[in-house]
Amino acid sequence: MKPLVIAIDGPSGAGKSTAGRALAARLGYVFIDTGAMYRALALKASRRSIDAGDAAVLAELLKASRIELREGGRQVLLDGEDVTASIRTRDVSALASRVSVHPAVRREMVARQRELGRDGGVVLDGRDIGTAVFPDADVKFYVDADVRHRAERRRAELQAAGAAADLAAIEHEIRERDHADMTRSDSPLTRAPGALLVDTTELTPEQVIERMLAAVRA
Ligand code: C5P
Repeated sequence: MKPLVIAIDGPSGAGKSTAGRALAARLGYVFIDTGAMYRALALKASRRSIDAGDAAVLAELLKASRIELREGGRQVLLDGEDVTASIRTRDVSALASRVSVHPAVRREMVARQRELGRDGGVVLDGRDIGTAVFPDADVKFYVDADVRHRAERRRAELQAAGAAADLAAIEHEIRERDHADMTRSDSPLTRAPGALLVDTTELTPEQVIERMLAAVRA
């Protein structure tokens, strides 16, 4: 079978990256967490006190940045530095959503992501994969879950990382980020035509993977 391009989009905390990573492992594909790329840029901007509204400066900053995804997307390097943990904070989450609204930033990110997926054999996870990065992807998924469930998942991740987290505050942040991602003018998060909806609320991770694998095989 020719190596496919598999697109996974959906809101924060629905389990896209868990599913995407497992799916890639089962298929022997490369997993590309595109959110990590926006997070790395957000981290760098914040360290340099660059305003998240300054599109031109952010685009220049990105052009001068090396962002590498290693170990099946488990490790993220920014200019050679391991930033895997530092990009997962709540501040960076919010900031990533703000830097990602700028068309000049998105253009460069999309170009890099297309290059990474050029030869196929890839699972990409993001917000605009099936709509903008690879509109001709072989298989598209839209992974969703109810917001309380997503907030609980995020809280568990933050707690595992040693960060205290209040459920109501996390749910509020998720709603805000969803709203920003779904209403921005450049490539808003939306279910791509032809994308198979996978609601993870009531499914175990294994059931999610089985459903996705069945769609890929079909
Ligand atoms: O997926 P993750 O939560 O790590 O993404 C962080 C932020 O990066 C998202 O809230 C979104 O604003 C942005 N993003 C994007 N397009 C992508 C992936 C992420 O705009 N393909």
